[in-house]
Amino acid sequence: MGAALHLAHTHQAPVKKRRPKRTGGGDGEKFAQIAHRIYQDDRADDRARQLLLAFAYAVTMAPLDENTGVWQAARKALNSRSHRTTLQQLIHDDTPRYERPGRRWGTDPLDRLCRGPRLRPHPDPDNFRNTMNICGATAQEYVLEKQLGTGWYVNHWFCRRHTDHLARVREQVKEQNALAPEPIPNRGGLMACYFDSDWLRVYRWAGWDSWEPPVYGFRADDWPTPGKEAVPQRARLRLVVGDFEGDKES
Ligand SMILES: [Zn+2]
Repeated sequence: MGAALHLAHTHQAPVKKRRPKRTGGGDGEKFAQIAHRIYQDDRADDRARQLLLAFAYAVTMAPLDENTGVWQAARKALNSRSHRTTLQQLIHDDTPRYERPGRRWGTDPLDRLCRGPRLRPHPDPDNFRNTMNICGATAQEYVLEKQLGTGWYVNHWFCRRHTDHLARVREQVKEQNALAPEPIPNRGGLMACYFDSDWLRVYRWAGWDSWEPPVYGFRADDWPTPGKEAVPQRARLRLVVGDFEGDKES
């Protein structure tokens, strides 16, 4: 893929007293390279892109001095009146995680719709209740199925008329659910694809102290996607680990 980005081994300088000064006019070519990759990355929504670009700019271009490290520069680049909240919130949004169907609107086509078998045809032949041959009534209760390969969830919703089906499905998935692996993450984990840092500490700062990373790792690049080839290893910019200044007010 893209040419490797060599960022001066900054991650190998843990006890440096003075940061190298950069008074602006940094490496525009590197910034352009990484910005291009960020814009091409269809895993990133607008907010993730904003966050990634701010760090790309901070690492490659922003004026740095003893008082302005990469994190401070990224904060400034986000150009918000409440930098701290914004940076923290954007990083929290990037927390690597599995998001279950129905958590956000549109992620479960049969959210709260009964999957019980259809008894009589729906008057509209093209209606999904006919094409899928399901009841489709508003459902009250669901059975959670965990898939064996991915650990991903399927919600089986049932209406009050299909409580017998609900009970049967609940029994059927018991063993499978117990055997299913931790779900492969499907959200966040983009910062770690582009930058190196102490991600456990960073994501805990942005979320909560007891947060644990997925067994599949921090980086979305490393997460298997069924039916898709893995994203090729990306050259990454390196953020100084000790540079994390999350708790410092800007
Ligand atoms: Zn039903």
